[in-house]
Amino acid sequence: MQPHERARGRLAPAGLLRLLEEQLAHAGGARVALLVIALSPSDRQLAIGRGVAVRTVLGEVARRVESLLRSDDRYAFASREELWVLLVGLPSEPLAELAARTLLDRLRRPIAVPSTSGSAGAIHLQPSIGVAWTSGPAGLDASSMLAAVTGAAASGQGIRLRRLRGARDHAPNQAQLEQELLEALDGNELEVHFQPQLDLRDGRCSSAEALIRWRRRDGSAADPEAIVAICERRELIVPLTRFTLNTSLRRMSEWSGLGLDMSVAVNLSAATLSDPTLPLMVSQALETWGVPANRLTLELTENALIRNLRVAAEAMKQIHDLGCRLSIDDFGTGYSPYTYLRQFSFQELKIDRSFVRHIHCDDGDRRIVRSLVELAHAFGMHAVAEGVEDQESLLALRALGCDLAQGWHVSAALAADDFAKWCLARRDAAMKRQAAAAQP
Ligand code: C2E
Ligand code: CA
Ligand code: CA
Repeated sequence: MQPHERARGRLAPAGLLRLLEEQLAHAGGARVALLVIALSPSDRQLAIGRGVAVRTVLGEVARRVESLLRSDDRYAFASREELWVLLVGLPSEPLAELAARTLLDRLRRPIAVPSTSGSAGAIHLQPSIGVAWTSGPAGLDASSMLAAVTGAAASGQGIRLRRLRGARDHAPNQAQLEQELLEALDGNELEVHFQPQLDLRDGRCSSAEALIRWRRRDGSAADPEAIVAICERRELIVPLTRFTLNTSLRRMSEWSGLGLDMSVAVNLSAATLSDPTLPLMVSQALETWGVPANRLTLELTENALIRNLRVAAEAMKQIHDLGCRLSIDDFGTGYSPYTYLRQFSFQELKIDRSFVRHIHCDDGDRRIVRSLVELAHAFGMHAVAEGVEDQESLLALRALGCDLAQGWHVSAALAADDFAKWCLARRDAAMKRQAAAAQP
């Protein structure tokens, strides 16, 4: 989508259903939420009765919905009384509920309208929202999902979460993927690759993000998000995290032997964060590989925190006490990111790539990134921009005071040995430049 279209996200109802159908057919297990918002008819009639143009009220409803949508989300007016919202790539059901709650809260706020007498008035809508989330493919089609959610929306005020039957049944290729992954985990066939992070202040590279990689038997590369989703479903996420963590620390200790003291960031998923053995797993891994705790960063998303706040808070405190760094990932893509900044202590904020992608050409994105960098610094955090794909973006980020940049322009994620070679070559080149500069 072009930057100037991004804020709108409005489709015709048929277009939204087509998009939902595509998402449900997604072989990798697309995660989408569908919300049906029923605007209270009695209040709408009241609005009309008071001589207020329906357009004013619906225009304000659209504006409030748009202000909450992320770049890939879409909405449609099915009628003057009903709105459909499709949230694409939403990792979990609690996030769908949170999105619905936030929307409900916005729509309940009074809508200022001029009345026929010319004096100002306010309309109070009493919407109800039906919500369903699926991690397809679930043998579910768009119209049956819509019917289930519409029924939930009609069943009273507030929010009704509709649990979809069969949402966890998977298509045959999904079952095959799962089976293959279980065997690959058993056979130690997964790999961890490392994506360099460039320090924008001195041009050095001393950190990387660890990303899971798996080449299937047919030679294709599996989608890392699908790997994580399957592991979460099959309760294999803790073994996967243990693997990523130990592989990363083992590599770090090997690189130290080459004179490369690298820091590495490992992603933690929601289920891992709720596992009470996580802090022990981290401390044992650090001890096993003799890596100082402050060189390990753990990346968490809002989604991971939201699942079980109390348990997550305890785990984060213990990990922080070990001396590890904490990073809040995909910042700006969720629904209430500031809540977590207030509540937890992070040392790093990762600016989501959707804001970075057009930074060189979109003034709005540049302003967002500037304020995120300032926010990070105000909380004593480093700001890391992800998805940096070209030199213009890198320069723009440096000018905005962003601390670190990660993305294909710097390098894609590399196998451990290639990563070490890449770092050594950069270091050698920098030393040669320095030596040349020191020549009289
Ligand atoms: P993430 O944490 O946001 O990771 C960054 C993703 O951005 C990676 O996708 C990376 O390959 C991709 N990327 C890097 N540079 C660029 C760029 O310049 N442009 C664009 N468009 N993309 C870029 P990847 O490897 O497919 O991973 C996807 C997600 O899977 C990760 O998103 C993370 O949430 C999850 N993941 C990956 N490895 C692990 C793991 O070991 N454990 C857990 N729990 N999650 C993981
Ligand atoms: Ca990450
Ligand atoms: Ca990220």
